[in-house]
Amino acid sequence: MKFGVLSEIGHRERRVSIVPSVAAKLISAGHTVHIEQGCGLRAGFDDEMYRVHGAVVLARTEVVAQSECLLRVAVPDAEEINELRAGQTLVSYIYPKRHADVLQALASRDVNVFAMDALPRTTRAQTMDVLSSQNNLAGYKAVVIGAAELGRIFPLMMTAAGTVPPAKVLIYGAGVAGLQAIATARRLGAQVEVTDVRPETKEQVESLGAKFISVEGLDQVNVQGGYVATIGEDVLARQKAAVEKSLLNADLIICTALVTGGKAPTLITADQVSRMKRGAVIIDMAAEAGGNCELTKADERTEHGGVLVLGPTDLASSAAQNASELYAKNILAFLTHAARPDGFAFDMADEITSATLVVHNGQVRS
Ligand code: NAD
Repeated sequence: MKFGVLSEIGHRERRVSIVPSVAAKLISAGHTVHIEQGCGLRAGFDDEMYRVHGAVVLARTEVVAQSECLLRVAVPDAEEINELRAGQTLVSYIYPKRHADVLQALASRDVNVFAMDALPRTTRAQTMDVLSSQNNLAGYKAVVIGAAELGRIFPLMMTAAGTVPPAKVLIYGAGVAGLQAIATARRLGAQVEVTDVRPETKEQVESLGAKFISVEGLDQVNVQGGYVATIGEDVLARQKAAVEKSLLNADLIICTALVTGGKAPTLITADQVSRMKRGAVIIDMAAEAGGNCELTKADERTEHGGVLVLGPTDLASSAAQNASELYAKNILAFLTHAARPDGFAFDMADEITSATLVVHNGQVRS
C-alpha cells in the first residue's frame, strides 16, 4: 500500500505518526511510504533519516495526492479534511464520541477512518494501544511539570539547617496515566495518596508504594471493559468526603479521572481549592474532557487563592521523540493486523477493525 505521513500543521502537536525505523519496517513489508517534508523535525527526525530507509520525501500536496492511506496523530481540522479525497483511508486519533462534526465531515468526503483511540483494551490489541503508550508518557510529564512548578522539593532532605519533609502528592485516577504518575512521584521521593473508584486499582496503587484512599460502596460503580461507564452521585459524595483531608494537605495534585466517552467528572470544586495549601499546584490531565477541577481551563494557567491550576493538553506531545517512537510502533502493529499489500480488509467480523473503523463508505458507524 502507499502510506502518507503528514505534518501536523496548525496544531500544537510535535509528534509524528511514523518514525524512520518504522518507515523501514513498512517498506521492507512491501509498502511505499511518502513523508511530508520536515514532518518529523519537531520530534527529532529529519528528512534524511527517512530517506536512508527508502521513504520518499515530498511536498504535502504530493503526499496527499499519491497516498492511499494517510497516517497522522492530531484530529484533523476542517482545512485538513478538505485536502482528502474520496476513497482514501485516514488512521489517526479521532475521539469519535467528542467529534461528531469531524466524523460527519470525513464521511461527506467519502474517506474511510480508523480511530486509533477507539481500540478495544484487549490483549490482542495491546501492541496497538496508543492510549496506553501515550498516556503513560503523559502521566510522567504531568509529575515532572508539577515538580518544576512547585515551590518545594519532593524528597525528604536532612540538612544541617533542618529537615525538609517530603512533598505530598494526591492523584485522582489510577489508570495508565495515574499509575505512571504514582511511579514518577515516588521515584522523586514524594509521599503519594491515590483515589480511584475501581476497587481493583487498590492493589496496583499499593504495589507502587502509594496509599489508596478507601471509599465505601465502590461495588456499585458501573465498570465496562475496564472503563468506568457511570458513577452514582452518592459514590462521588462519599469519595469527596474521604479525599477531603488529603486534598487540603497536598502540595501537588494530578487529575486523570475519566469516565467512558463523556465529560470528565468534576471532583475538585472551587471552594475546595480556596481551602487548599497556598502554593499548591493542580495538574489537570482531564482538561480536554472538561477537567476534574472546576477551575481548570484547557491549556491555561489559573491562579486561585495561591493555588495554581494547569490544564495542559499536550503532555504526550511534549515528550515528542519517545511518544512518536511508541505511537509509530502502535500504528505498525495496527497496519500489520488490518492492512494487506493491496488495501485494507475492512473485515467487520474482526473486533479490532469493527471498533476502530468509525467512518466507512461515506457513513459514520455508530
Ligand atoms: P484510564 O481510562 O486508563 O484511567 C482513568 C482512570 O480514572 C480509571 O482508572 C478510572 O477508574 C478513574 N476514575 C473514573 N472516575 C473516577 C473518579 N470519580 N475518581 C477517581 N478516579 C476515577 O485513562 P488514562 O489513560 O490513565 O488517561 C487519563 C486521563 O488523561 C484521560 O482524561 C486522558 O484523556 C488524559 N490525557 C491527557 C493528556 C494531556 O496532554 N493532558 C495526555 C494523555 C492523556
